[in-house]
Amino acid sequence: MSEFPRNLDGPIIILGGGPTGLGAAYLLTVANCKDWLLYEGDDDVGGLARSFCDGNGYTWDIGGHVVFSHYDSFTRLLDKLAEPSEWLLHERESWIRILSQWVPYPFQNNIHRLPPKVAGKCLEGLIEATLKNSDRPKTNFEDFMVSVFGHGIADLFMRPYNYKVWAYPATEMVASWTGDRVATPDLKRVARNLVEATDDVSWGPNNTFRFPRFGGTGSIWQSLASRLPSEKLIMNHEAVELDIDARVIKFANGTEQKFGILISSIPLDLLVKFSRNKDMMAIASGLMRSAVNVVGVALKGAPNSELASKCWMYFPESHTPFYRVTHFSHYSPNNVPDIGKQWSLMAEISESPGKPVNHATLVDDTIKGLAMEGLIEGPKQVIHTWDFRAEYGYPTPYKGRDEILAKLLLPLERVGILSRGRFGAWLYEVGNMDHSFMQGFEAACRALFGSPEFTVWNPHVVNRPHPVLGWDRLNWRLI
Ligand SMILES: Cc1cc2nc3c(=O)[nH]c(=O)nc-3n(C[C@H](O)[C@H](O)[C@H](O)COP(=O)(O)OP(=O)(O)OC[C@H]3O[C@@H](n4cnc5c(N)ncnc54)[C@H](O)[C@@H]3O)c2cc1C
Repeated sequence: MSEFPRNLDGPIIILGGGPTGLGAAYLLTVANCKDWLLYEGDDDVGGLARSFCDGNGYTWDIGGHVVFSHYDSFTRLLDKLAEPSEWLLHERESWIRILSQWVPYPFQNNIHRLPPKVAGKCLEGLIEATLKNSDRPKTNFEDFMVSVFGHGIADLFMRPYNYKVWAYPATEMVASWTGDRVATPDLKRVARNLVEATDDVSWGPNNTFRFPRFGGTGSIWQSLASRLPSEKLIMNHEAVELDIDARVIKFANGTEQKFGILISSIPLDLLVKFSRNKDMMAIASGLMRSAVNVVGVALKGAPNSELASKCWMYFPESHTPFYRVTHFSHYSPNNVPDIGKQWSLMAEISESPGKPVNHATLVDDTIKGLAMEGLIEGPKQVIHTWDFRAEYGYPTPYKGRDEILAKLLLPLERVGILSRGRFGAWLYEVGNMDHSFMQGFEAACRALFGSPEFTVWNPHVVNRPHPVLGWDRLNWRLI
């Protein structure tokens, strides 16, 4: 965190109405601050956590969103945003589809589901990795995979799956983000499960998630926005220029807004481009990211019995375009018009300059892949499809990222601009909805009171069970 100017003239302006922008707006509202406004380029709030109802009465997220809360205070806020009856509670049942088998997540604990020779290779690799582990360098994500999981699991699952998600080779990525996202193997447990041929699943009574009964994930953010002063949330204002010296933002519709402090949650490279600062633009050109394509498939009838209770499924193999499929009508029956007659799946497909996507055939390829893996009977079961492309999908945790971020975020702070959120701070490890909300909340606290921000500067702390950090003590109140 660098020195931050206080008492800058003008209002606090928030750019972007996703979870980060709404987190900032929420704090400013409860703190009774009057001098602020939020500008959103789109026609509604939610950002990547927005949901859409298509013309046929089906609800879709931008890829299956599940709330993982790392903050007690965020959990309590969710409790207040909707009545208990408005939430549906699910066991997190996730599976991997590989070699025409279903393997429960986490993969390494359930290799008994694989053909014996393949399972043996996975175990052998894991034993070798465990014996060598302490002296192996983990300089990049590729080294991490091999030294933690061994060649067997790395070759079969970890490397191909992660390439499909990230759309960049693991050699270009760091492993620092893995923390609570990648379950590390326990050799004794893996061996015992293999010998006893028992499923060892990560779901169970304490591994549940909640999902809105109506309106998809976006309804969480709609609910929050409805409690904020509507005159301060200004939609359809796409920022196109940032004059740092004059402290003015210009919008595509020709209007302008002066600011004292700016909390921006739009992608950092865009913010820098809008400032026309050539040095910063050159630095920001090194930021790596991938796009995500989402294909929603509305289906007749009901899922087969094998699929019925599955929440989401991972697909590491290259013959299907998608890396993950969400059983979205299982999240809420109201995601389809009549659950007695219809159901829905949602597939995610990554894209990068090195992993292009053929958009002309993507929907057909997705349907073919779903049929090939036995999730659907075939194209005749499809009622219609819905698709969405998020140009900014995943901020890549690549080698050299932190140095670039320091060269951008800190100088911006010194002129009273806090760039925060999934692509504002470009940190995947604190890029979920809860993290983003808290990044906005903490940035607004800093703007008002000068208090330190935790999330953006301490991902490793907030992602572990952490001691009560200031905000966790707050008794969240709604307006
Ligand atoms: C496929 C996928 C799956 C995900 N799954 C999960 C999950 O299961 N659980 C979870 O917690 N999180 C999940 N996430 C992450 C979640 O969507 C993000 O954490 C969250 O939306 C980030 O919030 P944000 O406000 O930082 O950014 P965004 O949601 O990107 O919001 C930024 C806002 O800025 C606006 N904007 C952009 N440019 C301009 C401009 N020039 N002028 C004005 N406004 C502008 C955008 O329209 C947008 O509304 C997922 C994300 C993706 C892509």
